Amino acid sequence: MTADRPTGTGPVPAPEYTLERPPGCLVEECDNPRTWMRGVCKQCFMALRRSGDLDAVALPPAGKRQRVVGERWMDYAGYVMVCTDTGVEPEHRNVMSRHLGRPLVRGENVHHINGDRADNRLENLEPWFSAQPAGQRIDQLLPYVATFHREAVLDLIAKAGDAA
Ligand SMILES: [Zn+2]
Repeated sequence: MTADRPTGTGPVPAPEYTLERPPGCLVEECDNPRTWMRGVCKQCFMALRRSGDLDAVALPPAGKRQRVVGERWMDYAGYVMVCTDTGVEPEHRNVMSRHLGRPLVRGENVHHINGDRADNRLENLEPWFSAQPAGQRIDQLLPYVATFHREAVLDLIAKAGDAA
């Protein structure tokens, strides 16, 4: 984690992340990377509650806790969430939007190339476009392409011109 804190979707240089997996379950003997409640995984939470030891473990206070900007954690689906000064968002979307220098637009998704949802290094991320419902009329797609992929389109046109 770099020292500079994540910001919203402003034009910030691409992050040079050395991502460490966020700490998982706080129970020492447990290596579950996912936390569920009070910093422990679901299984441990249930076990601790059954045994009445829940309050004996060094856990964050129960109930809603204010997130701190820069705080990262893994959600139950395995995505890293990050608290920025504009709110909580999935880290892979935050990394991509900072790389693009703009907020992601409707239909843009961020794909993890190696399939690891927690690996949010820029080189592991690629933007995908999938409109809902699947498929989109060309005339609806053109403004998006013209706005956000202008350089690439001009490049293609120039190359097509050369070939002709
Ligand atoms: Zn656990």
